[in-house]
Amino acid sequence: MTNTFFSFGWRDLFEIALVAFIFYRGLLLISGTRALQMLAGILVLSVAYATAWLLKLTMLTWLLGLAFTYGVFAAVVVFQPELRAALANLGRRRMGWLTRREEGTEAASALADTAFRLARRSFGAIIAVERDVSLSGLVASGTPMDAAVQPELLTAMFAPASPLHDGAAVVRDDRLIGAGCILPLSSASLDKQLGTRHRAAIGLSEESDAVVIVVSEEREVVSVAWNGTLRRMMSERELRTFLLARGRRSGEA
Ligand code: ATP
Ligand code: MG
Repeated sequence: MTNTFFSFGWRDLFEIALVAFIFYRGLLLISGTRALQMLAGILVLSVAYATAWLLKLTMLTWLLGLAFTYGVFAAVVVFQPELRAALANLGRRRMGWLTRREEGTEAASALADTAFRLARRSFGAIIAVERDVSLSGLVASGTPMDAAVQPELLTAMFAPASPLHDGAAVVRDDRLIGAGCILPLSSASLDKQLGTRHRAAIGLSEESDAVVIVVSEEREVVSVAWNGTLRRMMSERELRTFLLARGRRSGEA
């Protein structure tokens, strides 16, 4: 008797802990986002629906029922960016950009070289380096291409007269796969000195695990946005080391 009771208790406990954990992760995911406000709205609607149903207010029950049915579609539209990011996360690419180590080292050198060349000429630029989370969706917003990561090519692309200088270039492994791509803007409160270019770089680094290189045309400074934070790179060597370190971590995972 006690045995079955205890084995049941253990399982129940496990399940309760698991469900609590899933809820906790779910809430963490939406805390501070629009989804949280929406959840509050849904709660209010649910209470109204339950009340209407209990009081047998058929008209109101029917109307609220309709709101729930179409609300699902509305939610899909409203949360399209979040859903896209979540799905992209599910479809994580297992290979890091440096799994092919030699090409990766070359690409890192080429990118570091490019960034400081651009800074010296005061050409503004954003170069997003894909890691595990696919950036294919971003490339679709710009001009898809397939070219070697070459300082000459990238410098020509970001020259102010170039049709591709606006927006971000996207790098996957050792290939340049897109240019003129529109990145999601961060809504964090940032240094007043930083404009939309830096906000876009930070925004992508919040939504994905990409390493985003930003060159400021105003200040001729190279920075890297990663994991929602921006750090300045003082030298080509520092940037190259940073790129190699981030790539490795992903390659090993
Ligand atoms: P800088 O220091 O180079 O002046 P900044 O942070 O002050 O950069 P802006 O001066 O506003 O930013 O830079 C504008 C440029 O940033 C645009 O011309 C465009 O190329 C790029 N940009 C702005 N928004 C985005 C975006 N959402 N995605 C990609 N690129 C963007
Ligand atoms: Mg500016």
